[in-house]
Formats: sequence, structure tokens, C-alpha cells
Amino acid sequence: MAEFSIIDTYFNRKNTHSVDLGVGDDSALLTPPPQQQLVICADTLVAGRHFPLDTNPHAIGWKSVAVNLSDIAAMGAKPHSILLALSLPQIDHDWLKAFSQGLYDCCDQFGVSLIGGDTTQSPHLTLSVTALGWVDIGQAVPRSGAKPGDLICVSGTVGDAAFALNHLGHPLQKRLDYPTPRCQLGAALKGLAHSMIDVSDGLAQDLGHILKASQVGAKLQLEHLPINPALQALSEAQKWQYALAGGDDYELCFTISPQNYEKLLQKQLDVSISIVGTIQQQHGLTFEKDGVDHLLQFNGYQHFA
Ligand code: ADP
Ligand code: MG
Repeated sequence: MAEFSIIDTYFNRKNTHSVDLGVGDDSALLTPPPQQQLVICADTLVAGRHFPLDTNPHAIGWKSVAVNLSDIAAMGAKPHSILLALSLPQIDHDWLKAFSQGLYDCCDQFGVSLIGGDTTQSPHLTLSVTALGWVDIGQAVPRSGAKPGDLICVSGTVGDAAFALNHLGHPLQKRLDYPTPRCQLGAALKGLAHSMIDVSDGLAQDLGHILKASQVGAKLQLEHLPINPALQALSEAQKWQYALAGGDDYELCFTISPQNYEKLLQKQLDVSISIVGTIQQQHGLTFEKDGVDHLLQFNGYQHFA
């Protein structure tokens, strides 16, 4: 039957690490490491909605894994494995080969195994990935822990993916098609950061989720936003618009006490960190310009908008 030959041909590579039973049985089996909590999340990509129908299938495979590993990293956890639910309108072997290669490339880069899934036919190409990870009990970093006085930090650069979406073919398109989940940084922040989120819908909106969950406010220094040198030619307003409202960057935004920030700097990190503001008691997301506080009113990407 076609379904089984698809699974065997494209999604049944042997796992190399810490999986008791992977693809091929009714369920997968894992042994939780001692003193660890399971961290689990899912994300669905619908063709024509989350990516154009003609998107390079290798990039779709990579991104469908990367966005989930980013959610695991944003909890301060280490990703372990994924499951893939695939709904296909028809069997296209070239597409499946490139897609599965992209998926495994991302898995390999971050030491993650594909341990199971589901394959069905449906009129719309839909990919749903579930990711599993582990974190020391009690050490996960929620959105709700930000405290007044915390530094607000962002990894890498923000606005790249949104800029690339408006300038297809630009070298920054790599940032849109092949986002890098910040797995090493995320795990390094467990027990150190007070709150964390990954930037998928734009920094202003995603930081807004932290503020709401933590019942606090924030003041940003716009001139400290980490902006890719490729955007330098833009006006300040355009750069800030991309940095604050652009989605799909999959950088980490976290809040941390100044003391713990010093501890973080002692660790070897594989990505740069920028301090972009501070958490305040007073609610609202503000920025300062010419000595006056302004309320920020940016919107990121909203589903069902
Ligand atoms: P069942 O009918 O018992 O649900 P399936 O026929 O759906 O089993 O799947 C057979 C095996 O293949 C299971 O181990 C399942 O996890 C795995 N599997 C199915 N589809 C995929 C996929 N797209 N990627 C990875 N594993 C898959
Ligand atoms: Mg099934």
C-alpha cells in the first residue's frame, strides 16, 4: 500500500540515539532521563497559507522541524525527537525526497530523531510536526516569570525574515527559508532566564505575550535593536518596523536579572545577545525618544486577522 511504501522509503531512517522504539510499531517508546520533565509542542504548516505552493520542498522540511525545535528551545529545554503528521494531495516522489532530506538535515544538525507520525491523503498539503524535549525538573523557562528590573534580551538579529519576504532572492532569504532554532542558547538559559519566548510573530507582539503573562510592562531602547547589516541602508523607521513587527525570525527573546546576565556571559554561546530594554512594574510596551516615553503600537502577524 502506498502509505507504507512512503513511510519506508522516506521516513524510516534508523535512529542513532536514545530511542527505544521508533518508526514501525503502533507507538514509539522513549525512556525519560532521570529527573527530567517532558517538554512537548506541535506546529502545523499549511501549503498556500504558511508557505507558497512552489516553495523549495527541502526548505519546507527544514523549517517544519526548525520552528518546533525553536519552541522547545524557548522553554529552556533540549530537543530530543519529533513526530510528523503528513497530509498529501498526491504522491510526488521528487517532492517527498527533497522534503524528507530537509527534515532529516535539520534533525541531524540538532541531534533530534524522527520517531513516528502519520501519513494520509487530503486535498491540501499539510505538515504537522510534534517535538519532544527534556528539561531538568522545575527549570523550564515560562513566559510568565518576567520581573521588574529584568533586562530584555534578544538573540541574533530580528527583521531579517520579514525583509527577505519583501525582497525574494535577496541573500537574507536563507533566514526566511532555513531559520536556525537557538537550541544551544535556549538550554543555556534554563534556570537563568526568568521568562522566554521565541520570536515567530514579531518582537513587539511576542514580547507582549511575556508582558501579559508576567503582568508587567517594558521600556525598549530602539537604537539597541539588533538589525542585520544588510538592512543598514533603510531608514530608522523602516528598520524598526521590520525588527519589531516582522515575523518568522525564530530568535529567542528572554528576560533575565542583571546578575544572571553576567553568569550567561561566562558561558560559550553560539549566537550574539543584545540587551534591548528593561522590564518595568508599570504596564504597557514603551520606548523612549528625546527624553519622552511613547507607547509602542506595532502589530505582528495574526492568524484569523
Ligand atoms: P497505525 O495504523 O498503527 O497508526 P501507521 O500505519 O499510521 O500505524 O504508521 C506505521 C508506523 O509508521 C508508525 O510507527 C508511525 O509512527 C510511522 N509513521 C507513519 N507516518 C509517518 C511519517 N510521516 N513520518 C514518520 N513516521 C511515520
Ligand atoms: Mg496511524
